[in-house]
Amino acid sequence: MPASTDNLGFISNVLSRHSAERDHGALERAVADPNALTVLIAGDIPVLRARCEGATAFLSASEAARFTAHEEQVFLVTRNGTAVLGTLAPAEAAEAFKDDPDFRVVDLRSVAVQGLVPGDELGALAMAKSLLFWHQRHRFCPNCGAPTALSAAGFRRDCASCKAQHFPRTDPVAIMLVTRGDKCLLGRQARFVTGSYSALAGFIEPGESIEDAVRREVFEESGVRIGYVRYLASQPWPFPSSIMIGCVGEAISEEIDFDKDELEDARWFSKDDVRRMLEGTHEDFAAPSPIAIANHLIREWMKT
Ligand SMILES: [Zn+2]
Repeated sequence: MPASTDNLGFISNVLSRHSAERDHGALERAVADPNALTVLIAGDIPVLRARCEGATAFLSASEAARFTAHEEQVFLVTRNGTAVLGTLAPAEAAEAFKDDPDFRVVDLRSVAVQGLVPGDELGALAMAKSLLFWHQRHRFCPNCGAPTALSAAGFRRDCASCKAQHFPRTDPVAIMLVTRGDKCLLGRQARFVTGSYSALAGFIEPGESIEDAVRREVFEESGVRIGYVRYLASQPWPFPSSIMIGCVGEAISEEIDFDKDELEDARWFSKDDVRRMLEGTHEDFAAPSPIAIANHLIREWMKT
C-alpha cells in the first residue's frame, strides 16, 4: 500500500458534502444561520482569521459581515454539523483587511507552502477557490449568450433563456514519475526556482485515457517512450481547478529529446541524487515542494 498522502496540500478535507440538499434550500438556510462559518475569497485571494500561531480559513458570521459587498455566495458543506458558506468578494475588498492584525490576506499557494492553516482547512479553501473561480467566469451561457444565474446552492448555473444547465468543471491533469530501473526522469520549466526539478505533467485531452495521456505527454515533452503505467494517488490542485492524477510510468527507452518550448531541461537522476535532493543537501538540484504530489510520487519510488 502507498504511504498516507495526508500531508499533501489540499487533499485533506473534514467537510461533509451534502449534494442531495443543494436543491432544497441548503444555501438559504446557511445564509440565515448565525452560527454558519464563511470561507472568504477576495478575487482569488483567501482572507484568513489570524490566530496566535497561523490562521484559520473559517470566519464567523460577524467577521464575514465586514464584507458588505459580495459577488457570489455558495453553500460549500458542513463541518462538524456547522454550515460553511463560500463567499466571493471583489479583489479590492482584500485591501480593507491587509493592515488589520486580526486577518491575514495571503495567496493560496503561499498558505499551503507556509502551512498557515491546519492541513484539513486547505481542502475547504481549495474547494471554495475553485468553485468561486468558476462562477466568476461563467456569468453568461456558452450555449446562447444570455446571463446565467447561480443555482443548486452554487453547484450549478442555469440559463433562463435556453434552459441549459452548466456544472462546475474540474480539469484532469496526468502527473507522472517516469522510472527506468534505479533512475527516474525529472524536468524543469524556466519558471521553477533555480535547480528545482519535478515530475512531468500535462492535461488529459477529450477522449483520452489516463494511461495514454501519460505516454503522450512524456513522449512529447522528453522523447522517452513509456510502457506500463500505474496509478498511485490524486490531489486537488486549485490553480484554478485541476485534479492531479499521480502515476508511475515505466520507460522503455532512455534517450532524451526534450521539448524546449515546454522544458528548460530534462534528465535522468539516480537514487543517490534524488535522496540528496529530498534532504536538501544536493549541491546542484532540488526536489519539488513537499505539498505537491510530485514529491509524494518521488518518495514512494525511493522506497522501491
Ligand atoms: Zn442559454
